Amino acid sequence: MSGEILIVGGGMVGAAAACALSAEGFQVRLLERQRPDCAWPREGFEIRVSAISRASHNIFEHLGAWPEMVRRRVTPYERMVVWESAGGEIRFDAAELGEPELGHIIENGVIQCALWQVLAQRPEVEVITGAELLSLEPDARRPALRVRKGEQEERLEADLIVAADGARSQLRELAGIETRGWSYDQHALVCTLRAEKGNQATAWQRFMPSGPLALLPLEKEYFSIVWSTSPAEASRLAELAPEAFNEAVTRASEARLGELTLEGERGVFPLRLQHASRYILPGLALVGDAAHVIHPLAGQGVNLGLLDMAELVRVVVEARDRRRPLGHEQTLRKYERARKGENLAMQAAMDGFKRLFSNDITPLRLARNLGLDLADRLGPLKRLLVRNAMGTLGELPPLAR
Ligand SMILES: Cc1cc2nc3c(=O)[nH]c(=O)nc-3n(C[C@H](O)[C@H](O)[C@H](O)COP(=O)(O)OP(=O)(O)OC[C@H]3O[C@@H](n4cnc5c(N)ncnc54)[C@H](O)[C@@H]3O)c2cc1C
Repeated sequence: MSGEILIVGGGMVGAAAACALSAEGFQVRLLERQRPDCAWPREGFEIRVSAISRASHNIFEHLGAWPEMVRRRVTPYERMVVWESAGGEIRFDAAELGEPELGHIIENGVIQCALWQVLAQRPEVEVITGAELLSLEPDARRPALRVRKGEQEERLEADLIVAADGARSQLRELAGIETRGWSYDQHALVCTLRAEKGNQATAWQRFMPSGPLALLPLEKEYFSIVWSTSPAEASRLAELAPEAFNEAVTRASEARLGELTLEGERGVFPLRLQHASRYILPGLALVGDAAHVIHPLAGQGVNLGLLDMAELVRVVVEARDRRRPLGHEQTLRKYERARKGENLAMQAAMDGFKRLFSNDITPLRLARNLGLDLADRLGPLKRLLVRNAMGTLGELPPLAR
């Protein structure tokens, strides 16, 4: 019994799932709106990047996609500095942990294209583009998806259907799975900058009452920034003349990296917290942003999605080895149990951070500064924080080890 799996969404998480499941011998059909544009080299940097944890790096190595990411462009960072304007500061250093780096900054397109390149060499994977989803028939043994392609309607059956179609998952909607959450009333302004003092293999994050500013190192003297602030301020910053924007971002970073200069376009993304009420139905599993969307301040979104994928692969392989239906609720419940609590905890922690640092009440500010400084001096707490950010705490699915 090999098993057929239908995945909707070929973004970073869905493409990784297709690589992992085909490597396990499953027949995979991957539905994606359109094939990504993977031409390389390209001019400039993409504005969407991800801070990739050690656990995700391990997954990409296991899937055989890491060498292609390296061939394109990945930037390791060895240090991280988190500070608040009023004085509190914490520094993390890979050397203190005996690690070569804390993580890597990688453009989202580089990740997706390296995974698609692995898929292109897999005869077990059929890619279907441009199909419109019409309806879902959940079933523990043979769930099915009705789609329209051009004039044709088709019914695609499988042993399991995976929703990896992102935060606005249509498949989740067709399944009638509700989400809970709220808008953060913050938008993230995203762009590439050149820094006078170079990248120093360091990621920076400053907490301000209006929201955090993260500066993630790219090659040489370049940085990708994620500046979370009120929607009105984000639009204002996006429309400022380049010189005025350079001045504003240099000031916001307290010129720690010297003068900052805008390179290319700016993008604005609304931020929300969202969690699916359940991750599974008979014959269906949600992974990645289709299941949960968290604040980008800790750069964990795709890392959590990749761990979902790795855990789902683990339970599906186990079910096949025991000759159990892949889409049986008992099988999928194991996946949900392993991932939902962990994702909720990370989401709650990031939400708490965001609220704590969005507040300018003096006692809170003092407590925060004290907290950051204290954490900086307490070796074990600091190591715990950083291991958590590297995704190497707790029990990991085999693909992430
Ligand atoms: C400003 C910002 C910064 C971030 N920074 C980080 C970071 O540093 N580190 C980190 O880990 N995370 C970060 N994240 C989060 C991260 O980008 C997401 O968690 C990640 O993109 C989710 O991947 P995914 O594959 O689940 O979904 P997506 O990336 O949304 O991919 C979904 C895919 O499904 C396809 N699709 C959708 N609907 C259909 C359909 N009907 N039919 C076929 N295909 C469909 C889409 O075309 C797309 O390819 C950040 C997010 C934001 C907004």
